[in-house]
Amino acid sequence: MPPGLAKPAPGPRRSYELVEGWGMAVAAPARVLRPRNVDEIRACFELARRDGVPLGLRGTGNSYGDASVNAAGHVLDISRMDRILRWDPATGVAELEPGVTVRQLWQRILPDGWWPRVASGTMFPTVAGALAMNVHGKNNYVAGTFGDACLEFDIVLPSGEVRTASREREPELFHAAIGGFGMLGCFSRVVLQTHRVHSGNLKVKALRAGNLRGMLDLMESRRATADYLVGWIDAFPGGAHSGRGLVHAASYQAPGEDPEPARSQTVSYQELPPTILGFPKADVWRILRLFNNDRGMRLINAVKYHVGRLEAAHGPRLQSHAGFAFLLDYVPNWKFAYGTEPGRRGLIQFQSFLPQAAAHDAWQEMLARCRAARLVPYLGVLKRHRSDPFWMTHAVDGWSLAMDFKVTPENRARLWDHCRTMTETVLAAGGRFYFAKDLVLGPEAVARFLPARDLQRFLALKRRLDPEGLLQTNLSRRLLEPLAAGAEGR
Ligand SMILES: Cc1cc2nc3c(=O)[nH]c(=O)nc-3n(C[C@H](O)[C@H](O)[C@H](O)COP(=O)(O)OP(=O)(O)OC[C@H]3O[C@@H](n4cnc5c(N)ncnc54)[C@H](O)[C@@H]3O)c2cc1C
Repeated sequence: MPPGLAKPAPGPRRSYELVEGWGMAVAAPARVLRPRNVDEIRACFELARRDGVPLGLRGTGNSYGDASVNAAGHVLDISRMDRILRWDPATGVAELEPGVTVRQLWQRILPDGWWPRVASGTMFPTVAGALAMNVHGKNNYVAGTFGDACLEFDIVLPSGEVRTASREREPELFHAAIGGFGMLGCFSRVVLQTHRVHSGNLKVKALRAGNLRGMLDLMESRRATADYLVGWIDAFPGGAHSGRGLVHAASYQAPGEDPEPARSQTVSYQELPPTILGFPKADVWRILRLFNNDRGMRLINAVKYHVGRLEAAHGPRLQSHAGFAFLLDYVPNWKFAYGTEPGRRGLIQFQSFLPQAAAHDAWQEMLARCRAARLVPYLGVLKRHRSDPFWMTHAVDGWSLAMDFKVTPENRARLWDHCRTMTETVLAAGGRFYFAKDLVLGPEAVARFLPARDLQRFLALKRRLDPEGLLQTNLSRRLLEPLAAGAEGR
């Protein structure tokens, strides 16, 4: 060390930062700690304890709402623990540090002929964040969730003890911590099963439907044959066209179907193009910002729907895995089109999950309400799901509709009221919600959509593993703490 230079303090790197939810509609300053190993994770727990503040866990901050924001204390950011510890191309099993991103994972395994079994719509989440939220992909109805692809994990408890959990070993902890939004401990190692592929391409067929019933019917008719299904909905038109949109159904290529798998499986083949319609993609959000109002988005949605006719007229086309799975990543920072004032402007996503029989009528009612209130989502995405065994899961045997709403200081209170009304419709129809996307629910909604048995055993495990309540986030204080207090008072 050269004379005059202070020796860096031992332990995790720390800094004071503004930490925001991905949708930018919530933000709070916090001391951010970035551990590099299990000992440093333990040191983070100790530091929070010494400072008398709660600790919130964070991956790369891709949850739309307040799931990894902690206004009341420190934030442990896991992103520096990002080594791929072991990769076995014979079995497709990957052993990862928790801060490895989905992007790092696919880039490592695809050249060997494997792809993540479950991937969210963006490649930037960490595997710890994906496991803590039990994320789903466009193949949820056939492949399950991220938790279903997990073979084993290590978790550092607030006591500092490290436990290993799998379906056979500590099954309770396994099924509670997956989807447990970082409330029980900090994942420090994740073992995943990945999926064998025989090409870097998927066969993708576009289909068009004139209303929501048509969308659901199209997707249902492809469910047995497609490996991935996703629907895009134009939420602006009403009447007979309410819920019109496009469906994309994708299938893997069979062994031998791709004449050059070694080429299509390379990272360079998968890379998303540097320009969109001739514009450098880094600047596209600035153009989108000009359209980020009701008139502009009505136009963009209508153009997309009508241009979709051309796409739907053709047979299946080949598209790279990355291009299909991470469509939203095509436009870097597209969220900035919604505003760039953290905590004031941005977007929220209202994603509701509904059982098969109830989905159509409930969403038609909600879409009509959106139009009547002049709070129309600028993006609507439909997916097919199946249920899973994780205690705090959002998934149902049915459907989800994700609606992106613009947030401004002027519409905020009205938008929250609007979401409360829609929440009631979803709960009355037997639906669920997803903590990774939420910023509007109250605890009473959680108590209604989670089965009482699952909620009570989760709260009991939280009390046992984290008796001081060290692990907290804005989300947990908003939704979990009131329920925990209620359970204790009983
Ligand atoms: C554009 C976009 C598209 C998306 N598409 C989808 C989609 O298709 N399907 C889907 O399911 N989700 C989707 N998401 C949501 C996203 O996949 C999840 O929010 C995911 O959890 C983000 O991971 P992260 O690493 O950013 O974690 P963060 O958002 O930082 O944190 C998520 C949760 O993980 C906890 N956590 C973080 N690290 C640890 C740890 N080491 N141990 C324990 N808990 C921890 C946090 O406390 C928090 O509760 C999308 C998000 C975006 C921005």
